[in-house]
Amino acid sequence: MLTLPGDAVRQIQWRFADRFDLQMLVQSARSVARGTVAQMVAAGERNTHEWTPAKSEMLEAFDRAGITAAFMEPEEGGFIAGPKNLALGLAAFELAWVDGGAATASLASFLALSPIHERGTQQQVTHYKTLAAPPLAGEDRKPWRGAFALTEPIPYVGVDTGMLSGKLRVAEWKDGEEPWLQVDKRGRFITNIAFANFVTAAVGSDDPRIKGSCVVIVEDGDEGSFDRGTPTKKLVHQLSSTGDPIFNLKVPASRIVGGYTVKDGVIIPNFNHGEVIEAVFRRTRVPVGLMTAAKLLSAVEPVIRYQRERFRGAEGSKPGSVRYEQGIQQREDALHRLVDVWATGEAATSLGFSAARLFDALDPVEKLKTAILKERGIQGGRAEMKALKESEQRAIELLSLKSGDPRRAELEADPLVAFVLMDAEANVICPATKLWNTGHGANMMREAVSLMGGYGITEDCPGFLANKWMDAQLEATYEGPEAVQRRQLTVTMTNEVFLAEFRTWIAEMRRIASERPGTGACTLASAMRMWLWTLSYLQKATDPNGNKLYHGQRQGVTFALADALCWLLASRCQILDVLELEARGGDDAVAAEGLGGTVQFLSDLCHTQAAQAAGEVSRICAELVFGYNSHPAWADEAHKGCFLASELDDLEETMPGISAMAVDVLGADGSHPQKAGPCADCAGAGEFLRMQNKLTTCLSGSRLAKDRAAETVAKVMIPEALDYPA
Ligand SMILES: Cc1cc2nc3c(=O)[nH]c(=O)nc-3n(C[C@H](O)[C@H](O)[C@H](O)COP(=O)(O)OP(=O)(O)OC[C@H]3O[C@@H](n4cnc5c(N)ncnc54)[C@H](O)[C@@H]3O)c2cc1C
Repeated sequence: MLTLPGDAVRQIQWRFADRFDLQMLVQSARSVARGTVAQMVAAGERNTHEWTPAKSEMLEAFDRAGITAAFMEPEEGGFIAGPKNLALGLAAFELAWVDGGAATASLASFLALSPIHERGTQQQVTHYKTLAAPPLAGEDRKPWRGAFALTEPIPYVGVDTGMLSGKLRVAEWKDGEEPWLQVDKRGRFITNIAFANFVTAAVGSDDPRIKGSCVVIVEDGDEGSFDRGTPTKKLVHQLSSTGDPIFNLKVPASRIVGGYTVKDGVIIPNFNHGEVIEAVFRRTRVPVGLMTAAKLLSAVEPVIRYQRERFRGAEGSKPGSVRYEQGIQQREDALHRLVDVWATGEAATSLGFSAARLFDALDPVEKLKTAILKERGIQGGRAEMKALKESEQRAIELLSLKSGDPRRAELEADPLVAFVLMDAEANVICPATKLWNTGHGANMMREAVSLMGGYGITEDCPGFLANKWMDAQLEATYEGPEAVQRRQLTVTMTNEVFLAEFRTWIAEMRRIASERPGTGACTLASAMRMWLWTLSYLQKATDPNGNKLYHGQRQGVTFALADALCWLLASRCQILDVLELEARGGDDAVAAEGLGGTVQFLSDLCHTQAAQAAGEVSRICAELVFGYNSHPAWADEAHKGCFLASELDDLEETMPGISAMAVDVLGADGSHPQKAGPCADCAGAGEFLRMQNKLTTCLSGSRLAKDRAAETVAKVMIPEALDYPA
């Protein structure tokens, strides 16, 4: 590979080569990011948590660049028709390449609109999205900005979204007229609050005339107090605004997101706050994962430049010498660590964009599903789950059919089957993206920072790497920290449809491996098999006290297994993206140039990442399979299985050499070897050990791939200077 992968390569890998609208969005988001935003960071705008005129201007730059309009339909003032998950992911990726706070500032208004977009009435959707769209040429108005207020001061809403202190009461309800509601909500850490014109706030009923909870829209012009509160003293994302607002406002009941009905004098919101939030976060967490992925890939170029130039100017380092030309890149460890950062960035990006594309595909199918079920008189809740049970069985059947089976066509044409298949995958891939990209991504950003030495933790560091490292931690926290994603995964990853899909992915990886052995697909398939085996084992196994191991309360088991799964999913998406490039790269004149080398390098990164994933999965699964058995002790019954030294002497006569094989030998005086106890019996775990053995040998070639990738990293050409300031 001669140069860093360019746009033509990325468009194919991330599947928007045929989407001119998205390519334009990427270019304009990039120009704001590497222009306005980079200059603001370089000028120290992150040094204050106050909302400044420069930060305000950044929002206007987003408007002019079309970023704000990316959320809207053409009739609402936007320019992209249809689902926009990939579009928003791409915009967030470009902005976060330079600064996470800038990306968050752009996403926060979309987050505020999302409850309305997902569950609002048509009137609410049109009203607020039109107001939030940037002005058209010649229009004299400012777009409305929004904030989304779920989190409340301790001890209320955080991870546990059920514990609401925000309240809703009936303020006035005249006969035959629309009720007026009193909203009392305190927010904590609310993004965009310094300038928001409207807020979508989660509240619970504090009035017998209102049922349950809902999300309600409040505006800065409403009667009462719209107190924006004090700015949060953040150490991260300072280009976005965050604060703790207090709202005491009177609003018409038509502000309940999704509307309401009245029954026996009680207002019943059509959607409770949990239902709205679930629909929102399901999509909005994907761009957050992509933000951290962008940071990792953005670190590659500055690190390469730093490593190469490290010794230039020193007396003993003459142009042409290895020391001058290669700098720290003479050293294998420096290269290998950068390969690890790069490979993680590739995997995280592939996972994130794959999730975004899946939601784009799912959106219309989900609408169709809702319409079909509505026709049958079924709307949400348990009734819907029951109705979809049969479709789930049909989906599993479809996955089991061979390619030529005539029944396939019938099942493939069933929109409810298509829905449950995509839905099962989406329910896993979204939390996986948020969890793995941001959590593991933050750890790997530390690695990237460390590669720049002292420079890495200064404000002068090119690529703002230290900022990105800290910012990644916020990305791991907001919209639900890691525990929330893990909790969701522990439920969704055991869904039968998902597991059936997962089995087909193992077969898919083996197929790929037979044609492209250098991708690490075989290693991955072996690790996937081990994960599946371990899940099934843990679902049945108990601990020494007879308590179930796979249980919602047992996060030590379920969360660890969720973590392991994320490694596998990321690695799989990375491999699929490289295959896509290999298959289609030749059709594009720019991507075709040097395609073989680029595919080889990216495959080596896949192989490196697959080996890492396999190692993680093997470690986690082994700990779970063996860790819940008590270790035999010298003092307990288990030692009866050990040889006595005197026995061995006798046995030696008939079985010469047995003494050398025996490890747990007890002396006549009860003395024993210096260790925890006799070695644990492996009964029942033979299959696991065979798999682990195989997985270990599957790692063959992975370090050769890493060596090759490192060689490329040492030679690849980079531009003379970074295209945004330090
Ligand atoms: C800069 C910033 C911007 C934000 N923007 C917004 C916004 O616009 N709107 C909004 O509503 N919120 C916003 N938030 C809030 C954010 O979403 C929450 O901070 C986040 O969801 C975590 O909640 P918490 O801080 O109460 O943490 P806690 O709930 O106190 O969690 C603390 C730790 O305990 C763990 N933990 C908690 N519960 C469990 C459990 N059941 N099982 C296992 N572990 C658990 C968590 O994983 C975490 O590690 C923002 C926060 C920040 C910092």
